[in-house]
Amino acid sequence: MVLLYHRIADVDQADDPGGMVVPPELFRQHMTALRDWFDLVPAREVLAPHERPTAAVTLDDGYLDNLEQAVPLLRQLGVPATFFIVADALQPDPPEYWWDRLEHLVLEPGPGADRVRVTAGRRVLELDLATRSSAVQAYRDLSAVLQRQGHGAAVQALTTLEAARPRPQSCARHRRLSAEQVRALAEEPLFDVGSHTCTHSALAALPRQVSREELTRSRQRLADLLGEAPELVAYPYGSVGAVVRRNAGDARSAGYRAAFTNVAGPVEGSPAYAVPRITVGRWSVEQLHAAVTAFRRPE
Ligand SMILES: [Zn+2]
Ligand SMILES: [Zn+2]
Repeated sequence: MVLLYHRIADVDQADDPGGMVVPPELFRQHMTALRDWFDLVPAREVLAPHERPTAAVTLDDGYLDNLEQAVPLLRQLGVPATFFIVADALQPDPPEYWWDRLEHLVLEPGPGADRVRVTAGRRVLELDLATRSSAVQAYRDLSAVLQRQGHGAAVQALTTLEAARPRPQSCARHRRLSAEQVRALAEEPLFDVGSHTCTHSALAALPRQVSREELTRSRQRLADLLGEAPELVAYPYGSVGAVVRRNAGDARSAGYRAAFTNVAGPVEGSPAYAVPRITVGRWSVEQLHAAVTAFRRPE
């Protein structure tokens, strides 16, 4: 199995409309349980044949809370982990990811219009931001559309919203790891760094040449930083539809040894350029157990 986490932070469920956060205490319980159930290996080793049930822990998007909250627990428990990093977010003071920015623009109280018409790629959405519940729905609707588009569509939608509802440009909780922090992580034997492309676009939505560059340029950027090219890549969004067969071929040509999706399933028997991962939510240990056993081959 490969498990996928995003943010590890003390955030209430009500303030996590995208379902991206697992609180640190729950993360500790997950890691402790996984260590009991599986041999935990780095993601780069998960494709090799294993005699015993084996799992790998991965964290996507390179949030600073990974370093502040997850890393101390992983060190303490001796759990290997792979961090999939968005290369363009390594610049100093990167803009927030669109889904984080969207949280501010759609959900944060403040001045501006509470009905906004937004163009997202080929879709036009009428967002009702008058109440908290309608705004949460608007957040989810617009996110679902933008996840299937290239980065440009998200920038366009955010620009419209910024004009209608100005909000502060950044906040502490959405901060990402700096280049220096990523390099320090990669130097620890327990941890690996992989590519999560340059801009976090759905590769399937991009012209072929651009999607190839997402894979090659991010690999080069991380190679320049780490002194060694990353062996692994995780497709942004990673769902059926966000990534297609040609992207897998391009990941291989770019020099990666394996590529990871967000489609749940067992690793055994999966193609090296479409390795399944289980996206873990704010689950109890029992729910985690149900998720990992659902895909385990019957003895
Ligand atoms: Zn923010
Ligand atoms: Zn991601």
